[in-house]
Amino acid sequence: MADPTKTLCPYCGVGCGLEVLPPAIPGKAVNRDKDGTPLWNVRGDRTHPSSQGMVCVKGATIAESLHKDRLRFPMMRDALDQPFRRVTWEEALTKIVDRIRLVKFTQGVDAIGMYASGQFQTEDYYIAQKLMKGCLGTNNFDANSRLCMSSAVAGYLQSFGADGPPCCYEDLEQTDCAFLIGTNTAECHPIVFNRFRRYHKKNSDVKLIVVDPRCTETAAAADLHLAINPGTDIDLMYGIAHLLLRWGDLDKAFIESHTNGFEEFKEVIRHYPPDVVAIRCGIAETELLTAAHYWSSAKRVLSMWSMGVNQSSEGTAKVRAIINVHLMTGQIGKPGAGPFSLTGQPNAMGGREAGGLSHLLPGYRSVTNPGHRAELETFWQLPTGSISSNPGLTAWEMITGLETGNLGMLWVAATNPAVSMPDIERTKAALRQSPFTVYQECYYPTEMADYAHVLLPTTQWSEKTGVMTNSERRVTLCPQFRVAPGEARSDWEIFAEVGRRLGYRKQFAFNYAAEVYAEFVRLTRDRPCDQSGLSHTYLREMGATQWPFSSKAEPTQQKVEKAKRLYTDLKFHTPDGKARFSQVYSRGLAEPPDDNYPFVLTTGRLYGHWHTQSRTGRIEKIRQMYPNPFIEIHPRDAEKLGIQSDDWVEVRSRRGTARFPAKVTKAITPKTVFVPMHWGALWAENAEANALTHEIACPDSKQPELKACAVQLIPVKAI
Ligand code: SF4
Repeated sequence: MADPTKTLCPYCGVGCGLEVLPPAIPGKAVNRDKDGTPLWNVRGDRTHPSSQGMVCVKGATIAESLHKDRLRFPMMRDALDQPFRRVTWEEALTKIVDRIRLVKFTQGVDAIGMYASGQFQTEDYYIAQKLMKGCLGTNNFDANSRLCMSSAVAGYLQSFGADGPPCCYEDLEQTDCAFLIGTNTAECHPIVFNRFRRYHKKNSDVKLIVVDPRCTETAAAADLHLAINPGTDIDLMYGIAHLLLRWGDLDKAFIESHTNGFEEFKEVIRHYPPDVVAIRCGIAETELLTAAHYWSSAKRVLSMWSMGVNQSSEGTAKVRAIINVHLMTGQIGKPGAGPFSLTGQPNAMGGREAGGLSHLLPGYRSVTNPGHRAELETFWQLPTGSISSNPGLTAWEMITGLETGNLGMLWVAATNPAVSMPDIERTKAALRQSPFTVYQECYYPTEMADYAHVLLPTTQWSEKTGVMTNSERRVTLCPQFRVAPGEARSDWEIFAEVGRRLGYRKQFAFNYAAEVYAEFVRLTRDRPCDQSGLSHTYLREMGATQWPFSSKAEPTQQKVEKAKRLYTDLKFHTPDGKARFSQVYSRGLAEPPDDNYPFVLTTGRLYGHWHTQSRTGRIEKIRQMYPNPFIEIHPRDAEKLGIQSDDWVEVRSRRGTARFPAKVTKAITPKTVFVPMHWGALWAENAEANALTHEIACPDSKQPELKACAVQLIPVKAI
């Protein structure tokens, strides 16, 4: 039997290793889907250090999604009310290049925007940066990571002087206390949670604290579940900090030698005594005391968070509040301890490394730093001043750019903003106004395709070779193992071809993804995300590897050990090498509940769902797991409104409405309701969570507060 292809699950940021074998294996019956199509055999890779052979339902069923509903040929239309017609690549690319030239001439290059995705491989991200930020000279490249983890990026940068989660998955099995806030890890990062759960079950002294307004599967496994009111995360963190300070449970030597700003932080947390915090958070004071006690009595505390913290109008301040508590207790740079953000998408981390947000440049550089721009201009052989010093448009700013007419061309790739953006009706209206939209995707139909003038078919995972970095900074090679359908091309090849047609032949003289990655890693040398010692060949031969991993002469095992955790030398990337405490007071929700809209709506993922269902919606088993959307309502609220389980409820916010069958459950906090977020118009009628959400964002990270808005509930029978 042939050796399996070792690769990475392309769903979430856990980054589980997979092994793939062809549909026909001697001596084994061919597995087929219900249409009779033979399926590739996929199993967990026991040698992958991140996942150790485990996979969740998404990874296990991925083979079913590879052939269904594929976009096979380029298609075009002149207006959105016309049907698409099949065209050649030559016609499509000519149209795109002509349009770029026209918009650049008539409106300026900043009227072109590209919105892409953490589904990209690093090679796709890198070439897109070179095209947009380097050759075209606009920083209008943003990714859906803006909606997912840009607050973590900003928080790390402000506290440590550089982005990058300091921890690794081994820490899950070496901690004394796991503090999970704003993350339903059991459903959204299942293999991370499995690793911790195994360890937790075996070690009765190890504590699990879960902070979430819902009693999720994660919370159900906790030693302490703090069901705080939505938007009170900073209050909680400062309440814990207040108690630790009162009890003298500080690491004074660490604070003194390795941090700045503690005295000012002490002044802030003075205003967060436990009685006040308990009321604001809606928990008992004893619960707060228990949380602080668990924290203070643990030698090693590992905090993990994801969207529940990041998707907030004070997301960066929340991230920094978590980091502050780690700094005051010296809980960083050692096994089992540290602040650890869990990324949502498979290669959101790679996107950060390649500069895939509108304020970043490859290699953890910034567009506002003249030295960084000059380095890139020289490296890319572009004239001085080619890269703009202005941060580009963020995801939501591209939507408002369409509204005002300032954006003359939108290029969307591997993402579905017609479902995932906040205030979705406003988003759709803006997309309808777009003078020219290119949409690069592997599936058809999707909700976003309705707003495109040009559709470009792309290869997906399994049909192209590239790398992805998971939440623990581990880079895995994902080799091509099957042939793409129709005329699909990889994202980086499309960008490179457009670049060459615009006259940048030497900048895009690549034949293989390995060459693209080789160029990118040179740009990471001596940067915090140094992976200059990696290549496709190295990763193929040696397996998935964490960065930093430089090309400098050093025994490999030493590099591997050093890469496990950041800041083990307690030197941070700030000018004086010290980490910074933040001193920001809590503000609470951007749209708190009131008499007219008395409930807080919070949104989230279900175990089997992913990425607006563009892939998971095509997998029979997952569709059967979740046949319908729903809304969770606490029994006390349901009783007052006369609602029983399965009754239809209309949910209204200041922006729109949606309807869901009720699920009356004590799993949700009173006055809060929960709706899963992955049902777009393609999969259910009038059940879009983002019909209700607002766009108000964190001023630092520009990440919208998708996790909370004020709503009213009306039983449909009463309308
Ligand atoms: Fe894939 Fe994430 Fe599931 Fe792992 S946990 S198998 S990466 S979806």
